[in-house]
Amino acid sequence: MTGRLDSPLVRHDVPLAAFTTFKVGGPARYLAEVSDEEQLLAVLDAAPADLPVLVLGRGSNVVVSDEGYDGLIVRLRGTFLEVEVGGDGIVRAGAGVALPRLARAAAAAGRGGLEFYLGIPGSVGGAVRMNAGGHGRDTAAVLRDARIMTVPARDVRTVPVEALGLGYRSSALTDDDVVLGARFVTVPADPATLESRSREIARWRREHQPGGTRNAGSVFKNPPGTSAGRLIDEAGLKGLRRGGAMVSTLHANFLVAEEGATARDIWELVGEVRRRVEAATGIRLEPELRFVGRFEGEEPG
Ligand SMILES: Cc1cc2nc3c(=O)[nH]c(=O)nc-3n(C[C@H](O)[C@H](O)[C@H](O)COP(=O)(O)OP(=O)(O)OC[C@H]3O[C@@H](n4cnc5c(N)ncnc54)[C@H](O)[C@@H]3O)c2cc1C
Repeated sequence: MTGRLDSPLVRHDVPLAAFTTFKVGGPARYLAEVSDEEQLLAVLDAAPADLPVLVLGRGSNVVVSDEGYDGLIVRLRGTFLEVEVGGDGIVRAGAGVALPRLARAAAAAGRGGLEFYLGIPGSVGGAVRMNAGGHGRDTAAVLRDARIMTVPARDVRTVPVEALGLGYRSSALTDDDVVLGARFVTVPADPATLESRSREIARWRREHQPGGTRNAGSVFKNPPGTSAGRLIDEAGLKGLRRGGAMVSTLHANFLVAEEGATARDIWELVGEVRRRVEAATGIRLEPELRFVGRFEGEEPG
């Protein structure tokens, strides 16, 4: 048990489910919604040195434990939600900016290249951390640099994309690194092309993903040379359930959570899918989802 965190910017025992797309999980011991870097520093300075700290973006790639998170959850609001398209085509965005909004802001200024973000409901910070991507592109291809604060030292630096270690749905960043903002490179594009590309992306998502459900996108990373969805489908696991969690019947690499589902249901289903795919193919799937807080066992399955 660590010492107390007292700050006017911090609330105690705040339910986190509503801040995630799965809509499950317990409370954060502390939650701070900060408007700028000064507030972020003030909260970190008030926190006991051994208190775990985690930045939550739009919660579209996480499962929060039913027990919650025994530490400080930070959400970036205020100036972190600003986006600006420069005359040079460089788009500057705070880490809290939603990716579809980022893409639309660029398109409204006649700039293209970020359309693949339209179907990804994460934030700029989450995209940098996860190297989010889709439709043949990823964050590494469009990012110029990111402004990052390392929590223990509080140092802030601008890190060029090459130094972020971005790989397939991964980066060299750890939970100690807070992405504060990022700059993206765009290309000139005519409105008709952007419009048809956006419609195409929306259509593809509608046809291939269980829209309108509680999910967190792809559960597992694709193993080299194949897709996790195909392996799960071929193992006959579409529709497999644990409590209120189910393998989507539309896209086998999506889990959907019904009303009343728990984080434990999702954890157990992820483990069960992993075990059954491994038994059928010898391939051990690696989760793309991030589990926040305490779960039984070190990893699902
Ligand atoms: C319907 C749906 C479709 C999806 N499709 C795709 C897709 O096509 N491609 C894809 O890549 N992903 C997809 N995802 C997953 C998800 O949107 C991405 O992984 C996204 O990048 C996560 O961003 P987030 O802000 O929601 O991060 P969160 O889920 O809030 O957090 C994910 C991780 O990033 C960290 N993080 C968040 N913000 C910051 C920050 N500012 N600084 C440091 N660390 C931070 C968190 O601590 C956590 O470790 C999809 C999800 C859904 C629900």
